[in-house]
Amino acid sequence: MKRTEKTAIAENREGAGNVTPRSGARSTRAQKKPRSPKEQPEKRERVKRAAKPARAEKSAKPARVPRAAKPAKSERPAKDKADRAAERTERTERTARTERAEKQKGGKAVKIVFLGGVGEIGKNMTAIECGNDIIIIDAGAIFPTEETPGFDLVVPDITYLIENAHKVRALFLTHGHEDHIGGVPYLLNELKIPVVGTRLTLALVDNKLREHKINNVKMIEAEAGREVKAGCFTVLPVNVNHSIAGSLALAISTPQGVIFHSGDFKIDLTPVAGKPIDLKTIADIGARGVLLYLGESTNIERNGFTMSEKVVGSTLDGLFAENSSRRIIIATFASNVHRLQQIIDLAVKYKRKAVFSGRSMLNVCEAAEKIGELRIPDGVVADITRLKNLRDDEVVIISTGSQGEPMSALTRMSNGENPAVTIGGNDTVIISASPIPGNEKLIYRVIDNLYRKGANVVYESLLNIHVSGHACREEHKIMHNLLKPRYFIPVHGEYRHLKKHARLAEELGMDAGRIFIPDIGNCVEFTTRGMRRADDVTSGSRLIDGEGIEDEKASTVIEDRRQLAAEGLFIVSVAVSGGEVVGEPAVNSRGFVFDFHRDYNTEMRDVIKRAIAGYDLSRGTTDELKRVIKRSLKNYIFKKTKQSPMIVPVVVEL
Ligand SMILES: [Zn+2]
Ligand SMILES: [Zn+2]
Repeated sequence: MKRTEKTAIAENREGAGNVTPRSGARSTRAQKKPRSPKEQPEKRERVKRAAKPARAEKSAKPARVPRAAKPAKSERPAKDKADRAAERTERTERTARTERAEKQKGGKAVKIVFLGGVGEIGKNMTAIECGNDIIIIDAGAIFPTEETPGFDLVVPDITYLIENAHKVRALFLTHGHEDHIGGVPYLLNELKIPVVGTRLTLALVDNKLREHKINNVKMIEAEAGREVKAGCFTVLPVNVNHSIAGSLALAISTPQGVIFHSGDFKIDLTPVAGKPIDLKTIADIGARGVLLYLGESTNIERNGFTMSEKVVGSTLDGLFAENSSRRIIIATFASNVHRLQQIIDLAVKYKRKAVFSGRSMLNVCEAAEKIGELRIPDGVVADITRLKNLRDDEVVIISTGSQGEPMSALTRMSNGENPAVTIGGNDTVIISASPIPGNEKLIYRVIDNLYRKGANVVYESLLNIHVSGHACREEHKIMHNLLKPRYFIPVHGEYRHLKKHARLAEELGMDAGRIFIPDIGNCVEFTTRGMRRADDVTSGSRLIDGEGIEDEKASTVIEDRRQLAAEGLFIVSVAVSGGEVVGEPAVNSRGFVFDFHRDYNTEMRDVIKRAIAGYDLSRGTTDELKRVIKRSLKNYIFKKTKQSPMIVPVVVEL
């Protein structure tokens, strides 16, 4: 694959070409002629023309996002509407003036399409559309739950983007976590578009694309403070803190105003590496006016501030000192490069060798070290094969598996199945992560098993060995106050998170009518008259099972797996010869009440025989015969047991 490119992109395919990173306003590059000469001057002209009277009566097509306690629209005559507009002008002078100015300007409507990451934590994906341009923000994945048993990965349904493929200009990635980049290969399989992200994000995406054998992807390295133009959008990446290096918020200039997408963020004024969140730029953007704030909501239920990543460093330092004669094993998220850096630094300080265990740990370290995001002094890292030659007090093992993932290095250690590491009484295992909701059972099972093997285990509920990468309530308040957006849409959270974030915005003084809580597939539109709901788009989940992709709604696979898990399976074999059923039907069952099959085998066979006796094979098809068998047995079992196992009829032609 081609490495990242910093310069303008010349793409022969129509549509994907208009993505140009450029420096700030003072740069000479910004003076350069725009690539699409039609677009730019026209826009400037529109700004100049902003003096004509408003045409307020026109518009009111789609339903408005509900405002707080107002009479139904139909009850209000058009004149009344104008009066109210005047009232509002008095109330919120500045806002109304801006709105009017834009109305006169007549900018194209800007649509926000929510394709993932709302009402759920995972598979984030938002599309922003204006005229003939669409940009996508993030393309995440989510790991399967009990509702999607047996699948490898779940990614957003991108039907809408495929249908509008000619408009899609670029994919912007806020950072390199799986819930933001996990779906990139599946997106790029369908859409040949440039990918914009910071160095670490692109390095992690690069690993994925190589695994999926996807070549020739344009990669544009994003840098905080350097604008990237994509179609009619100009995107300014803004540095934020998070639990992975190279995290960005995006300030997207659109014909209707600036949309600020927070990405995943926290405010860490003493980050381990890199700079603190760029509050100055965020405040400047706020001062210039923000149309819409799309703000992440993960930790909205937590009061106060998220602790600095530095806190983890000092806790770990204490643990290294306390456990000076023991072997130390630390499990953490591979992607938390700053955490890894702190562990490497401690290894140096306490003269231990760092040994990486687990594939994703090795992958991320390699990617991060290559681009200088992770600094590992020579001789600090030892290969895992050297472990047997090292004394316990000479080594720290850095492992995957902080979520108790079944195949991870730590889980296998806890089960005694890791060929390289055998857990014993002189081991201190530190789990430097908190369980992602849903993973608690898995991780506590691992902790129990580690204790059983004699290890000492240190995990979050005992000490400050993990801090979150997401902002708590006070940090959210700061963000809202700096941005002072006209509209607010909470994202990156389950419904209760979004709801609570919406409430917080109201507490901070925002009118409830300017807040919208989205669901996947929802679409809002910004015009000169403000925010309205637009028609929903096709959306949902695509389930990745090895190589195959299933559409969740259309998928019978999931339904089958659920039914199999809950109610078991019956297989009925019938032999057919010369248009007639021959011999006895055979009934086998799996996962159903054992006694039932034994006790009712004869009766079941009779039921089936009766059902097929009246069936004229010479007239019907085998499929019809199968349906007859299925229906008869299903009814019989349901009558007896009130259960509905899966029934698979097999017709063998002899
Ligand atoms: Zn994240
Ligand atoms: Zn996230």
